[in-house]
Amino acid sequence: MRAAVLRLKRGVERARVHPWIFKGEVADVSVGEPAAVTVVDSAGGFVGRGFYNPRPALCCRVVTWRDEALDARLWRRRVDAALARRRPAVGGTHATRLIWSESDGLPGFVADRYGDVLVVQCLTLGMSRVRAELVAALRAAIGDLPVFVSDDPVPAGLEGFEPFPGWLDTPGPASVVVEEPGAAGAVRLGVTFGAGHKTGLYLDQSENRLRFGALARGREVLDAFAYTGAFACHALVGGARRAVCVESSADAVAAARENFAVNGVADRAELVAANAFDELRRRERAREHFGLVVLDPPPFARGRTAVEAARRGYKEINLRAMRLLEPGGVLATFSCSHHVSPDDFADICRAAAADAGITLRVLAPLTQSPDHPIVLTVPETHYLKGLLLERVEP
Ligand code: SAH
Repeated sequence: MRAAVLRLKRGVERARVHPWIFKGEVADVSVGEPAAVTVVDSAGGFVGRGFYNPRPALCCRVVTWRDEALDARLWRRRVDAALARRRPAVGGTHATRLIWSESDGLPGFVADRYGDVLVVQCLTLGMSRVRAELVAALRAAIGDLPVFVSDDPVPAGLEGFEPFPGWLDTPGPASVVVEEPGAAGAVRLGVTFGAGHKTGLYLDQSENRLRFGALARGREVLDAFAYTGAFACHALVGGARRAVCVESSADAVAAARENFAVNGVADRAELVAANAFDELRRRERAREHFGLVVLDPPPFARGRTAVEAARRGYKEINLRAMRLLEPGGVLATFSCSHHVSPDDFADICRAAAADAGITLRVLAPLTQSPDHPIVLTVPETHYLKGLLLERVEP
């Protein structure tokens, strides 16, 4: 069988260091349906190989720039390289992202390890077709773990494939408790497969949670947009006097309650099921103060057009959080919006501080955990921006 060919338009023969090909860059394709393709330039010169799908605007993601087949050998090489970049994927109770899509040369495929369970997620139709081969490569490297498939229905809909429901073959446990390194010892976090956000936890924040916990001793803490209360758990295990968690999802609040119990800190935790915008405003009016605050909102800007509204949203919550800080208090503030750059985010925080009349010292810029590696030439891989800010005495 002759491989299908995708030919780029003249003028798009730029250095191929970014795997995405959009419809507007394509001169023609020799197939009308989704397929593995050889990408060539307008003169017919080899560029790479990837998966083509005529449905989305981002119609092809290049998997290799070498003249090689998209087969089990390549998957094994990619998987082994991804594992070698990370801390050894030990079993037990560890949680780590093992494979992260473009960052690991497997665009459209994510694999996380929660203790002795693997959770995989396909973001493209092409990757969903080779899911079994990718899992085989992972199992060959780390052992025959049960695999839960956690395909996100939104990208699956855009790409036109059915999200796979549940356990791939042998079923595993319904839930596990993993341990995250914390400042004063391990922090235990529950994960129920098939429930909640992402693949279970926001693994991209694990290093920031560790850092947050290290600042918590003796402080009053506010965890806004708390999900299952992981930042608050780190703070409480780290010796915080008290923590208030604000989260709008009832399921996440229930999971946070379990996390507090599992860590033996429930007596110092207050859970508020509310809109964080309202709750921050209410507590500011009540003149409450906290020594440590985290703001970890969902991506307010999902599209380029929503950026202005997102900017206003970020500014408002940051302004209120700054006013809630006691002098010497610390704010960890984040944005995971792709369309808000680190400089934009610093500008928004600066404007919020100016309006609040509060001087803040930058203790550190923050970003995603190293198991979500940033590829310089694929800027979309750098999506989590944060600042660790300390309120200067007036
Ligand atoms: N800090 C968390 C992850 C937070 S993700 C962790 O480390 O695990 C963002 C959370 O904000 C989600 O759980 C979402 O349900 C919640 N959320 C979204 N909009 C909200 C709102 N307006 N008020 C409160 N919570 C909100």
